[in-house]
Amino acid sequence: MNIDLHIHSTASDGTLRPLEILASAHRFNLAAIAITDHDTLAGSRELLESGSLGGMKAISGVEISAAPPPLCPRQGSFHVLGYGIAFDHPRLNRALEKLQSARQDRNPKIIQRLNSLGFPLDINEVSALAGGVDGLGRPHIARLMKRKGYVASIEEAFDRYLGHGKPAYVDKFRVACEEAMGLIREAGGIPVLAHPGVTLDAAIDLDRLLTALVDMGLGGIEVYYPAHHPAQTARFAAAARRYGLLMTGGSDFHGSLKPEIQLGTGAGDLAVPFALFAALEAALDAQRLQAAGTYR
Ligand code: AMP
Ligand code: FE
Ligand code: FE
Ligand code: ZN
Repeated sequence: MNIDLHIHSTASDGTLRPLEILASAHRFNLAAIAITDHDTLAGSRELLESGSLGGMKAISGVEISAAPPPLCPRQGSFHVLGYGIAFDHPRLNRALEKLQSARQDRNPKIIQRLNSLGFPLDINEVSALAGGVDGLGRPHIARLMKRKGYVASIEEAFDRYLGHGKPAYVDKFRVACEEAMGLIREAGGIPVLAHPGVTLDAAIDLDRLLTALVDMGLGGIEVYYPAHHPAQTARFAAAARRYGLLMTGGSDFHGSLKPEIQLGTGAGDLAVPFALFAALEAALDAQRLQAAGTYR
């Protein structure tokens, strides 16, 4: 019995709608899922409020674009996953709205850069190809570049133009890491460090970083992830045990915007055990009881 706790829907930069993800999860025999869209709860909410999970276990989720903490010199995004959050928490929703409008404001600037690099395209074409979804971002721009023959793949669009430090890269607002984790806790959820093998430099002092992050409210590490080598998985699992953190895992499925990644199995060999979901649910239950003042 496997699970997938990192999934993107059409509410951000995935290509399947929440209920299509649910159907697909049934086909792949997954036991539990979480939709974790970038900076929006809409996809997760649609899944959980559909009232027709058909025996599937599901938990609310989000992936917040945070700024790296001081101990993490890497520029760009520091993704924080949040699980078990309440959908209507006002401060969390305000922060997510701000992040979404930052992404929206950035798109025309990226397109302007691409135009001056000699690639004619406009935002309406990006939106039309994406099927008018909310949360347009770089992956949708990358897909149009591929469609127009400017690049051979989405990966190439990022590697040559859209990625951090590349000629069409434009920075965007991110919430402080501490704030992201604080808001997730306030909304009743548990903050989890997303894909540390991708986010962190190999040479980072993991113990110093985790000590600081636990102080800020970190509750778990995404140990199982398609891009993690076995040695990384082992390293992050050991770190989770050392710090008493939960372990999570997921494919980071984006549908056809990340065609090499399948729901559940990732690049083919991902297997996230159900026991991790049970532990996450137990931790959320304990947190709820504690908040209600009935914890012994
Ligand atoms: P944005 O929301 O515009 O900042 O785009 C961020 C998203 O782009 C990430 O969540 C990934 O889905 C995707 N992305 C980032 N880097 C790459 C890459 N090198 N190759 C493919 N997709 C990427
Ligand atoms: Fe994405
Ligand atoms: Fe991410
Ligand atoms: Zn993701």
